Amino acid sequence: MKAFNYNINPARIVFGEGRTSEVAAEVARLQAGRALVITTAAQQADGEKLLGELGSAGVALFCGAVMHTPVEVTAAALEVLRAHECDCLIALGGGSTIGLAKALAVRTGLPQIAIPTTYAGSEVTPVLGETENGVKTTRKADTILPKVVIYDVLQTLSLPPQVSASSALNAIAHAAEALYSEEANPIITLMAEEGIAALVRHLDAILADPQDIEARTMAQYGAWLCGTCLGTVGMAIHHKLCHVLGGAFNLPHAETHAILLPYSLAYNAEAAPHAMRILSRALGVEDKPWMALYDMLRRLGLPTSLKAIGMPEDGIERAVELSLQARYWNPRALEAAPLRRLFQAALTGDAPAAF
Ligand code: NAD
Repeated sequence: MKAFNYNINPARIVFGEGRTSEVAAEVARLQAGRALVITTAAQQADGEKLLGELGSAGVALFCGAVMHTPVEVTAAALEVLRAHECDCLIALGGGSTIGLAKALAVRTGLPQIAIPTTYAGSEVTPVLGETENGVKTTRKADTILPKVVIYDVLQTLSLPPQVSASSALNAIAHAAEALYSEEANPIITLMAEEGIAALVRHLDAILADPQDIEARTMAQYGAWLCGTCLGTVGMAIHHKLCHVLGGAFNLPHAETHAILLPYSLAYNAEAAPHAMRILSRALGVEDKPWMALYDMLRRLGLPTSLKAIGMPEDGIERAVELSLQARYWNPRALEAAPLRRLFQAALTGDAPAAF
């Protein structure tokens, strides 16, 4: 075993079916009593229901969360927060909603309760990505980390099957990269393997029946573990490339992760053989775990090429150039020629090779 450092973020995880009903008690536990509920326009009805469950502890609802946490939206939410003298934040939604709560928390110091409704994992990380004038910046701070996470499977039943699948692959990407992270450690490796296995073993059941509570519960358990990997150790090439593609071509977050992951893993295969062995075990295959993910994408009916989600055909050079800027740690050096081959294959959905 190699030498390692082990640092874990503080966490209060309230896990179980129906436990959203305990939200008022969690607000009181934080010694707060005037909560702002945050969600998206699409989830407004769920936000209103949550406000009802809070009773007198729920004082306002903001349904304007959107992707990429634009600072203008944060400013609008801040006005609502101040007008109602809120003393805590409750995010009900996916990474976009949780991002807005984090943006408010870092500006006000207020505690947050996150009730995730996707598998993206933001609820257990102290990281916030924001956009201003179209430029995305990322920062990290203790105040960004939610104080409490309520994992209630009932909040995930309405997540459409396709979004469930791409969101699950987004979660798997966090754990896969944790296996070869510069800061990898044996506890996070355990969580990564268990998290990936819990997700992949239940995805088919979720697609067959999105109301399957047992399968959804196991997927949410996996998403928590994978998110914890993301929040604990540094990521590598895959997260860097997804960040580049999202910023340069405004590609959708979860689908970009899902499509690119097999290619990123193939790129690193020779440089991270131990990680590939663990990944194979988690996916239930002998070897070449990236091919299992490549095939899974097709089986689950997800988009299979970057072109299909909006990457322009002439975007490869720009993607390569941006990927080589602001160097990011990776077990294998990032180099122009193999990166170009990687983007070319991912653009058209060709099977990943040894780039
Ligand atoms: P999202 O939050 O953007 O949600 C996608 C859509 O699905 C939204 O319209 C939302 O209203 C809807 N939705 C969510 N849950 C639903 C449900 N249960 N039923 C019906 N509809 C539902 O998607 P996401 O993939 O969770 O989050 C992506 C964003 O999160 C990106 O901006 C990404 O950068 C960020 N993110 C941040 C971190 C971090 O650690 N900071 C981690 C992961 C993702």
